[in-house]
Amino acid sequence: AKEHFDAIVVGAGPSGNAATYTLAKAGLKVLQIERGEYPGSKNVQGAILYANALEKIIPDFRDDAPLERHIIEQRMWMLDDTSFVGTHYRSDDYNKPPYNRYTIIRAQFDKWFSAKVREAGALLICETTVEELLMDGNRCIGVRCDRLGGEVYADVVVLADGVNSTLARKAGFHGEIQAKNVALAVKEILFMPEETIQARFNIGEEEGVVIEMMGSVTEGMVGTGFLYTNKDSLTIGVGCMLSDFKANPNRTAPYALLEKLKKHPSIAPLIEGGEMKEYAAHLIPEGGFHAVPQIYGEGWMIVGDSGGFVNAAHREGSNLAMTTGRLAAETVIAAKAANQPLTAKTLSAYKKALDESFVMKDLKKYRDLPEVLHTSPQFFTTYPTLLNRAAQTMFTVDGVDKKTKEREIFGSFKSARRLGGLMSDAFKIWRAVR
Ligand code: FAD
Repeated sequence: AKEHFDAIVVGAGPSGNAATYTLAKAGLKVLQIERGEYPGSKNVQGAILYANALEKIIPDFRDDAPLERHIIEQRMWMLDDTSFVGTHYRSDDYNKPPYNRYTIIRAQFDKWFSAKVREAGALLICETTVEELLMDGNRCIGVRCDRLGGEVYADVVVLADGVNSTLARKAGFHGEIQAKNVALAVKEILFMPEETIQARFNIGEEEGVVIEMMGSVTEGMVGTGFLYTNKDSLTIGVGCMLSDFKANPNRTAPYALLEKLKKHPSIAPLIEGGEMKEYAAHLIPEGGFHAVPQIYGEGWMIVGDSGGFVNAAHREGSNLAMTTGRLAAETVIAAKAANQPLTAKTLSAYKKALDESFVMKDLKKYRDLPEVLHTSPQFFTTYPTLLNRAAQTMFTVDGVDKKTKEREIFGSFKSARRLGGLMSDAFKIWRAVR
């Protein structure tokens, strides 16, 4: 007879690991299948880890997780071609444990998380791709893999297979991914001595800085750039909506955008001498609230990027992934404890829990943002340029009186957007983030 599990989890990223760990810890018989050589082998990038979501799964993770630096300073920069206007928030409160955010290297972090998953008692099989879901009518009863003799059965299959969500689409749970709902991001890890990073970013041994950027770097496309400090490396990247790349074939290619960002006069001195060892391109689901598909059904659930759970406005993804994974697992555990079958009706408790959590509340808050940004390129072109020009006008001491400078600045805003345009832009942004 074919082996039967309580649950099969497809994927060993943050969402799959969170789900598998929670299920196994509760004593359920879980099989996790990962196509990579080892968990994290496909996820090489440096990233921000939000402690709160992981604490709810592994409270003492700080004891042995591979953490690079805790973040004590957040910078937000609006770039034009030669300058930036920015805000920096730095607090000594962020320097008191337990820390709230860390930089991590995903390859190491995913490996660590996976070791915890196995310690909790789950069976992990790598280098194995799930090719399709096994269905009995509309009920999912297992998976077909490219190894293991093919078919494996379970009461529930948790799809944690990432942004492409191939399995759910193949099974007809949702349609094709639309280019306007995904960003294409490229990033690099640049190695340099710890001391150099600490001197350049004005930080101590374990302290870190995050810089988020928007403006000329994305050449009018909806997108952002970012720079994170790891222990002895920097992560630098840029991402824009795939629909924007596709809309104009003459657009600068993603990698060329990153090269341009690296040459920006405000960035170049920070990364100078960094030795590039890793380069990665990846999609990010950024469609938000309206793009979240049906995430549960008869014997199946969708978690993490596969369900589009990313808060692009705040650059949060892995914490939503872990939270959806945990809540999906808790739904299964509760149903099993009550001897309920894992039907769509029982599993709907997962959606209810998500609706009550920060995950759906945050996605809902920003539900109109993707559309507003998509139809308002001025936020990525005109305004960053105007702001930088305004700063230069005000800070340059050249014998022109300040009242005249103010008039010049207001005049430049009005001639670029007219009064009606300025008011409508302010309203649009208010409406999109209210
Ligand atoms: P993934 O991490 O994509 O994991 C899916 C796993 O499933 C993979 O290991 C894959 O190999 C496996 N898999 C897929 N299909 C199959 C199959 N058929 N069979 C077997 N295995 C399969 N989030 C943050 O919180 N902070 C950040 O700083 C941040 N920065 C980011 C920067 C970039 C450039 C990108 C692209 C994303 C960033 N994110 C960030 C988002 C974050 O990476 C994702 O939200 C998160 O990784 C989602 O986790 P996941 O487990 O759902 O999917």
